[in-house]
Amino acid sequence: MAAVPDKKDKAEVGKLIEDIRRYERGSAALDPGAGERRRLWDRVGDFTEQFLESLPSRPAFINSETRGRELYDSPIAETGADIDEVLKLFKDRVVDIGLSPVSGRFLAYIPPCATYHGALGDFLAAVTNEFSGNFFNCPGAVRMEHQLVRWLAGLAGYPKEAHGSLASGGSTATLTCVVTAREAHGLKARDYEKSVVYLTAHTHHSLHKALLIAGMAECVKRIVPMDSAYRMDGRHLDGMISDDRKQGLKPWILVGSSGTTDVGAVDSLDSLGQIARRHGLWYHVDGAYGGLFILSDLVKDKFRGIELSDSVVMNPHKALFTPFGLGVALVRNGELLARALFHTANYMQDSLEGTEEVSPADTGLELTRHFRALRLWLPLKLLGVAPFRAALSEKILLTRYAYEKLRAIDGIEVGPYPDLSVFAFRYVPQRGDADSFNKRLNGELRRDGTVFLSSTVIDGKYMIRFAVLSFRTHVETIDLAIDLIDRGIERVEKE
Ligand SMILES: *Cc1c(COP(=O)(O)O)cnc(C)c1O
Repeated sequence: MAAVPDKKDKAEVGKLIEDIRRYERGSAALDPGAGERRRLWDRVGDFTEQFLESLPSRPAFINSETRGRELYDSPIAETGADIDEVLKLFKDRVVDIGLSPVSGRFLAYIPPCATYHGALGDFLAAVTNEFSGNFFNCPGAVRMEHQLVRWLAGLAGYPKEAHGSLASGGSTATLTCVVTAREAHGLKARDYEKSVVYLTAHTHHSLHKALLIAGMAECVKRIVPMDSAYRMDGRHLDGMISDDRKQGLKPWILVGSSGTTDVGAVDSLDSLGQIARRHGLWYHVDGAYGGLFILSDLVKDKFRGIELSDSVVMNPHKALFTPFGLGVALVRNGELLARALFHTANYMQDSLEGTEEVSPADTGLELTRHFRALRLWLPLKLLGVAPFRAALSEKILLTRYAYEKLRAIDGIEVGPYPDLSVFAFRYVPQRGDADSFNKRLNGELRRDGTVFLSSTVIDGKYMIRFAVLSFRTHVETIDLAIDLIDRGIERVEKE
């Protein structure tokens, strides 16, 4: 035992209390009373109303010379400032510059858009700060989480034994799945060099990052060729797997995509699943962007075979419009999750008492975690599933509409017909280099900022992507975007 100071006399204890009281008064601002809470709530409410009302006229991208550098002119100080001043700083230096991810004219990357209901869920989660890490402490929070996991697992056609983890996003959900797959196959460090991952050149980079974090960067990555629509071409797989085995390697995991980021391609999930089964591979499906389109009757068929997967990732913060911070890892044999990730310690012994439901801390990467279930549960309960299905179907049709309109423009070359809500295109100028033309076209659209698109490289060609996923994107948005692209082409041609 470390040395303990002598016992204090009465006067010294009195002094101790005096000091405590002084600090108590000094920290009282941390717990405002009802009146101050109402004032803050009203100010923030006014702010969000103004923001949401400004969206229809707000560019998707606001150029700014200083990119918010002035934020540093207002350092973190010992004393606080008034809410109006602080909100103004937030507006001027953060909200009003760069991208507006919740704009319907954000047609880049995978467009995120957060429902108001989801934002309220976040607020409720933050105020109550329910500890969703384990069942004993906050059983209701855990049940809410599991209700969502079961609903999502049902969408994937998984059996009752399935389980999942609400992670902070697709990348962490992918890491969860990779570690589960590694443990399920009993792989040890000495095996990594011989363990083979089958993926395509369009597999999302979060998979590579997950392998790196899982300590498996040196595993063998087999890049399986794609067909003309950029889906994994399963015809090569059987041979590749058999050859690898003959060479003494350990075929381990097959990664399919139900919606690639580049062009939104959905692999033939069924045939990949059959191959994985035949060869005893872990079958992982990356549905971070596209998996939830299974809710739309228009494209549901494309997901046939997803139920054969051992794990799948879906991102409600993409296709279910929650605020950022929700990607779900689902594992068909749920027990494998806890087998891979369960850990405990002496100071956790009390929380081992409740065993009716497994604890999220034992099936995911985090112990203390955001109560992120509410950002999905609240919108689903308030609105029902129907509007989400309708929004996703609308996005599918809007994308087909945009594809038709773009390919009607002379000189535009489109990529494969969209499986979901993303496709790539480029303009092929009469003379000059197409790559540099499209780079300039993309730059031209950015400078204007009304709409925001992003680009990629496909088969060595610079392509602009057209991605539709915001519930605020409608027919008028597409018409406007096509018009701006058309005018942008004219301008670049004249340069
Ligand atoms: C967005 C995305 C991811 C990564 O998800 P984050 O939530 O951004 O970490 C993984 N795969 C695909 C196909 C994606 O579109």
